Amino acid sequence: MGIAERYARERMQVDEACKRAGRNPEDVLLLAVSKTVDVEGAREAFQAGAHAFGENRPDELVKKATALPEAEWHFIGNIQSRRIPDIVAHASLIHSLDSLKHANKISSEAAKLGKVQDVLIEVNVSGEESKSGASPDEAPNLVQEVASLPNVRVRGLMTMAPRGDEAAARAAFVGLAGLMDQIRGTLDPKVAGAFDQMSAGMSEDWLLAVEAGSTIVRIGRAIFSEDF
Ligand SMILES: *Cc1c(COP(=O)(O)O)cnc(C)c1O
Repeated sequence: MGIAERYARERMQVDEACKRAGRNPEDVLLLAVSKTVDVEGAREAFQAGAHAFGENRPDELVKKATALPEAEWHFIGNIQSRRIPDIVAHASLIHSLDSLKHANKISSEAAKLGKVQDVLIEVNVSGEESKSGASPDEAPNLVQEVASLPNVRVRGLMTMAPRGDEAAARAAFVGLAGLMDQIRGTLDPKVAGAFDQMSAGMSEDWLLAVEAGSTIVRIGRAIFSEDF
């Protein structure tokens, strides 16, 4: 199987999982995480129907988004302050924001480009020390503060689940969905209306995330790796 076939298989499985969960497949974006392949690999998935791609390194984001501007590009990696101009120039959605300092810089860079940058706040729901993200306790305040910036729009939350532990992954996804509901209830109605994106689920655990209400599954290896 090549990239095109694997993409088609994943999209079909996501669609079926949505239907089983009583959800509309159009409400779940399959973000093709192309970080392990070159532009040609991403193009193959694009031709098979993938229209949104995720990258975790600014250099790769710039390179691939420039080569394939017909697609939508998301930034899902660790944010470094000095790379924010490149990220804002190319990402339609940043999934991994977890500090007010970076949010301020994103807002001022977006202002220079005359854009409003869509972002998600990354939350470390499981509390694993190795993971980045705001704690569930910090997240509500951070969302409020980021929402008050002029050139940033907070679209929702993102998380990474613990690996290899189905019960813990399910708990993380359900926890993130609950936190989104809780935060939405505290937001100004105008902000709450756009706070509708939950980025959760990867190759190994996206099914659990779809069942918990995820609207963006970030799938890399199942599409781009021959031996997943
Ligand atoms: C690499 C990556 C993914 C995709 O992971 P796979 O296991 O390859 O599907 C998703 N989200 C983030 C933040 C990543 O860095």
